[in-house]
Amino acid sequence: METKKIGNQTINVHNYNTVIVGAGAASMNCAVHLYEFASQKGVADAGERIAVITAGLGLGASRMSGSDKQTYYKMGTSPDVPDSAEEFSKSLTAGGCCHGDLALAEGIGSLREFYHLVEVGVPFPHNPMGSYIGYKTDHDPYERATSAGPKTSRFMSECLQRQVVGYGIRIFDNQEAVRLVTIGSGDSKRIAGVVTADRKKAGKSNFAMNLFLGANIVLAAGGPGEMYETSVYPKGQVGIHGLAFEAGLIGENLTESQFGLASTKFRWNVSGTYMQAVPRIFSTDANGKDEKEFLTDFFPTMSKMATNIFLKGYQWPFDPQRIENLQSSLVDILVFNETQKGRHVFMDFLKNPAPGPKMKQFDLDELEDEALNYLKATGALQATPIERLAHMNPLAIEIYKENGIDLYSEPLEIAVCAQHNNGGFAVSRWWQSNIPHTFIIGEMAGTHGVKRPGGSALNAGQAGGLRAAEYIVNVYGDEVADYTSQQAQIDEKLKECVNKVGGLVGGKRSGVEVIKEIQHRMTTSGGHIRELNDAKKALADEVALFKSIEEGGLKVADTGELIAAVQARNLALGSAGYLKAVVALLEQASGSRGSHLVLAEDGVEIHPDVIDKATGKPLKFKPENKALRDSILRTGYDEGSPDLFRCENIKPRPLPAERKAFEPGWQDYREGKIYE
Ligand SMILES: Cc1cc2nc3c(=O)[nH]c(=O)nc-3n(C[C@H](O)[C@H](O)[C@H](O)COP(=O)(O)OP(=O)(O)OC[C@H]3O[C@@H](n4cnc5c(N)ncnc54)[C@H](O)[C@@H]3O)c2cc1C
Repeated sequence: METKKIGNQTINVHNYNTVIVGAGAASMNCAVHLYEFASQKGVADAGERIAVITAGLGLGASRMSGSDKQTYYKMGTSPDVPDSAEEFSKSLTAGGCCHGDLALAEGIGSLREFYHLVEVGVPFPHNPMGSYIGYKTDHDPYERATSAGPKTSRFMSECLQRQVVGYGIRIFDNQEAVRLVTIGSGDSKRIAGVVTADRKKAGKSNFAMNLFLGANIVLAAGGPGEMYETSVYPKGQVGIHGLAFEAGLIGENLTESQFGLASTKFRWNVSGTYMQAVPRIFSTDANGKDEKEFLTDFFPTMSKMATNIFLKGYQWPFDPQRIENLQSSLVDILVFNETQKGRHVFMDFLKNPAPGPKMKQFDLDELEDEALNYLKATGALQATPIERLAHMNPLAIEIYKENGIDLYSEPLEIAVCAQHNNGGFAVSRWWQSNIPHTFIIGEMAGTHGVKRPGGSALNAGQAGGLRAAEYIVNVYGDEVADYTSQQAQIDEKLKECVNKVGGLVGGKRSGVEVIKEIQHRMTTSGGHIRELNDAKKALADEVALFKSIEEGGLKVADTGELIAAVQARNLALGSAGYLKAVVALLEQASGSRGSHLVLAEDGVEIHPDVIDKATGKPLKFKPENKALRDSILRTGYDEGSPDLFRCENIKPRPLPAERKAFEPGWQDYREGKIYE
């Protein structure tokens, strides 16, 4: 390590072949594969050529998030139902706006990566014959979903990390990314490195900066969790979307965030068995008084209401196409409607759903077939929801206990929360970004379309990391970064970076305050309910906020506040990019799709008592404009544009159909043509 003096700052400079930002399941897997591919090529010190940097080793969705049985969606492993990568990719692209080559690569890489996880020790269950058992999510005949329990992605990260550490790969913890350092322009533009500030040391006058130079950069910093107020992303999951835009990386499908019911005191999804146990759902006023069975005003019978609570379990997340005619996403809308009135909504596992005035009492035998057959098949016919949950999935109760909530004695507060972004940054079939030598994997990569099967995010993160690692080692090689001839450019960029961070110090509002403003705006205007004029105003406000940070800085007093200021700037620019995409899509009359509802005066009324808070009138939504399924919205930073961003539509790349015979295919492989 060298040090460099830039202005009044001393920067530690580290040099690697590949620098990975983020330490979740995607990152750890990519690091393992990089090491293994390089070692197989004879590199003796492969571990010393790779670095992982993260804001927090314990942070991120992989390590901190989950659900009743967190799903890993892979190609079918049933001994009697054949599956294929092409069938798998069709499920990934079915909702539209998804590149066929990425979907096929995720299918082809699926089992290789699944068994890789098995090998590193993730306890996926198998039967006495060794067959990895799965379950259906939403009529999937192949039973592709599997799970290692509520903490699947945590186990993945931890098992892979053991391997990473064993290979001698260094993990730099507490490193908040501050800037991606670019050099060159046009086709020769590169991201040469990442500047970080040490979260434990950085303060108003000492920014405690590191520069991690890499011949290759892999961005695996996860989704934009801290952009939202009502969120089930773990606290501290900031992401680096603002920094990535600024470096020139292009976003795709940013509008396709997912929202769903989750507990808020301890952030956890209440999908699967939490709902299939059919708990009572009720609301109270802000003081915890005035309990109300609010769902009963909207469902005609107990059977319909209870069946929809059950279905919410695997018809998760919120889906605007499952509202009409009393379907399960009406539950999300009604929960949201209650919270809009300032009320709090809870799941009560001690009692069965309570009837409204004209309803019968709850009776398991009156559930519709789909629900009743499932509960019969799993033997979950006990008298109360907590008994049914304990029977189906005791770990689902335990995870709350571990986090200070006893479902045997207290109700669980829930809300409709932001949980995942199907979009992200554009990648090629080798997960390379629009800037050569920079790769994007995991949730930060925009590989999913408008809809995706539950659990496919984790599969995509593994398959993408494998592809990126293979490409890096075979095409770009194993040399450590050498930017000697571009040193002047790098120094200039470092100076700019130090000035920018210095410029953040001096404003009136703190980073924490500004982040709250961003989160509120994103949940209100870029969340699961959207409206064009409102989104336009939000975009203008966000752009003005970013410019005000650039011009006047933020209040920075002690150590943590510099980090919050850096995050606020990153989130302000990132959310301006997201809002620009939201506006651009609404301007194309996109309608309600994926996991968001678009309001329109001439739209479909949900129910006279479901009110649009902004107008006081019944909430009406616009159906999906299906013509847009064959286009992907791209968003790029453009400093000169009034909105700071520009958007364009592109066509999704098709599913590759080429199948070569063995000999020519082998020749392509030997000659490295497969990477062209
Ligand atoms: C409640 C919940 C339940 C989910 N359930 C499922 C499921 O059942 N199945 C499924 O497939 N997917 C699920 N997902 C989605 C899935 O968990 C995530 O998409 C996936 O874990 C992301 O992995 P990743 O490695 O890309 O990023 P993460 O695991 O989020 O890791 C991000 C890394 O980047 C670091 N980082 C972030 N910002 C910065 C910064 N500014 N500077 C430096 N470092 C930074 C973090 O500290 C962390 O190390 C769920 C998500 C949530 C929130």
